[in-house]
Amino acid sequence: MLDDPLRVLDTLVNNLEGMVYRCRHDDNWTMLFVSQGCLDLTGYLQEELVWNTHVSYEEITHAEDRARVRQEIERALASNQRFSIHYRIVTRQGQIKWVNERGIGLSDETGEPVIEGFIEDDTANKKMLEALQNAEHYYRNLVENAAVGIFQTTMDGRYLSANPTLARMYGYDTPDALIHALGDIGRQLYVEAGRRNEFRHLMWAYGEVVNFESEVFCRDGRRIWISENAHIVRNVNGAFVCYEGTVHDITERKQHQSLLERQANYDQLTGLLNRNLLHELLEQGISRAERMSYFLAVVFIDLDNFKFINDSLGHAAGDTLLVKTAERLRGCLRASDAVVRQGGDEFVLVLNDHYRISSIISLLERVLIEVSKPVLLSGREFQVGASLGTAVFPQDGRDAMTLLKHADAAMYAAKSKGRNNFQFYTSELNRVADERLNLENAMRVALEQDEFEVYFQPKTDASKRVVGMEALARWNSKEWGTISPDRFIPIAEETGLILPLTEAILCKAFAAASFMNNALGHPLRIAVNLSPKLFLNEEIVWHIAAQMRDSGLSSSCIELEITEGVFLDNTERAVRILNELKKLGVALAMDDFGTGYSSLGYLRRFPLDIIKIDRSLVTGIEQEGEVAKIARAVISLGNSLGKLVVAEGVENQAQFDFLSLHGCDEFQGYLISKPMSASAMIRFLQERTAA
Ligand code: C2E
Ligand code: CA
Ligand code: CA
Repeated sequence: MLDDPLRVLDTLVNNLEGMVYRCRHDDNWTMLFVSQGCLDLTGYLQEELVWNTHVSYEEITHAEDRARVRQEIERALASNQRFSIHYRIVTRQGQIKWVNERGIGLSDETGEPVIEGFIEDDTANKKMLEALQNAEHYYRNLVENAAVGIFQTTMDGRYLSANPTLARMYGYDTPDALIHALGDIGRQLYVEAGRRNEFRHLMWAYGEVVNFESEVFCRDGRRIWISENAHIVRNVNGAFVCYEGTVHDITERKQHQSLLERQANYDQLTGLLNRNLLHELLEQGISRAERMSYFLAVVFIDLDNFKFINDSLGHAAGDTLLVKTAERLRGCLRASDAVVRQGGDEFVLVLNDHYRISSIISLLERVLIEVSKPVLLSGREFQVGASLGTAVFPQDGRDAMTLLKHADAAMYAAKSKGRNNFQFYTSELNRVADERLNLENAMRVALEQDEFEVYFQPKTDASKRVVGMEALARWNSKEWGTISPDRFIPIAEETGLILPLTEAILCKAFAAASFMNNALGHPLRIAVNLSPKLFLNEEIVWHIAAQMRDSGLSSSCIELEITEGVFLDNTERAVRILNELKKLGVALAMDDFGTGYSSLGYLRRFPLDIIKIDRSLVTGIEQEGEVAKIARAVISLGNSLGKLVVAEGVENQAQFDFLSLHGCDEFQGYLISKPMSASAMIRFLQERTAA
């Protein structure tokens, strides 16, 4: 019976992988028993180890570990504890093995202190652990030193981890700084609102995002472009743990891309748009012109004699000429216009937002003048003209192709007309342009020969007493007959003749008013119209002051009528000029009031004294419809702002009565009198005073 359990124990012990032992607690760890596993573990036979016959176990223990092993065992024994040690042995074959030894101190049958324990090979475990540690180290290194940003984030947009590269990319010193600062990725990181939602949406739908490109803010507010690749990390149960992914800085690629786009759409030499975008530009322009009922003009420009310059002076000179021309063309255009280099020495202008053909004509004139100014090439001055062909939407074509074809045809017509001129596609427009040019020339002559005259139209108060008059320009041309201001004022404005013309009108109007006031014995106010174009230059103040001085007319007798157009171009400068004029002591009137859009704002902001209700608000006023309501509102607004309210275009008594009833202060129109010459005006005034 007793034999049996012992045998079982023996089999068990000897079949164990590892070595069971009993040794004395002495200086040599004298071995009393070792199991058969010792051979596998150490390479020594049982009989070689027992009684330390051939070798002591301590000698098998790695020299570097011996002292530690003994120390730990002694300590455990001293405190009656089990021990468990990890150390190396060197086998008979010279192989180093990591082993685990667990044991306990006991007393044997005789009371001798012994140790019993079990030693097993731990090399595999140890290797796995090492491999794990190495792997972790490796991956940590990989993450820390990766060239890409690496992150883990929560679903609600916080960072769980970030690597130094990501921190650097976003402008932070450390990953911790980044994690701290960005508590709401959706709001703080992405430039485009809703970008993080897009990210989450893709994650939800596909479990990953691939090459997700976004613009993001860096710490200092700088913007960079990134590309993200990320996926959802789940635990063993499939529950969401975090988003994890990589970030590439693709700013440079993006910049390169936009550079390529630029290169694709811009001409390298001149920096102008190239022909690639021409069609698109035209189509946009056409639909805009259609919507707003504006004209759109396509102008083909071909430099005259470019080939000659290029061939005789060389390409560098040719390039210089092209660059210079591009610069000059750009200088002629307004913000809404575009200039395209079509190729070679051909340019195309797309002129938008013109509501008069005459303004297109004056722009073409300017282009011709600018382009044919002398240019310095290879140390010599050259003058190179250009031939311009123009097609106008809608009359010359309703689509881009047709307009381009017709502008091209017109350009050839200009060339055959002897170069350095412009031609329209339609003969009708050419006729208009010719007439325009002739009229312009005639106007220059007329100014010199003093063909302009001033007519006067009286204004009365509610009791029909004459209180003032408006000066209106008239042109009696020897060649053309009487020309209406509605025709010559726009041309004067476009050609710059408006300043000398206004000077002439001011001079005559002030002189006549001064004369009438003296003759009449009581002062009449004289109103003169000022074109918005005069407000481009502060000099106008000086001109008016000079005319005032020369005429001896008191400033309290002078009204200057301006329109909303004054405020369109450069409001600040306009206001400065208006204030300067106010300082002269004159009154300022807002003309054509009620026809524009923001009239009310102007009234409050600018130093205006008088509102002139436009004729369109007076005509039909007696019918008491919409117009009457607006007119009444304007009058009461003017009254409440303390402005003098004047109605123009009053043609009948009913209109007069209505306006007067609702508080209008002064009245002007055919009911009182048509505009008339100075001598007729004097007679008119004398009859009135006599009556
Ligand atoms: P405006 O300043 O609104 O001048 C009033 C225009 O209405 C004048 O036309 C006048 O003859 C006309 N008119 C006056 N009463 C009546 C009426 O009862 N019924 C009708 N149907 N029309 C009336 P005009 O003289 O042909 O002047 C046209 C525009 O030319 C003026 O409009 C003004 O904008 C401009 N203008 C005239 N003279 C000058 C000037 O010396 N300088 C500037 N810059 N513009 C001027
Ligand atoms: Ca006026
Ligand atoms: Ca008016």
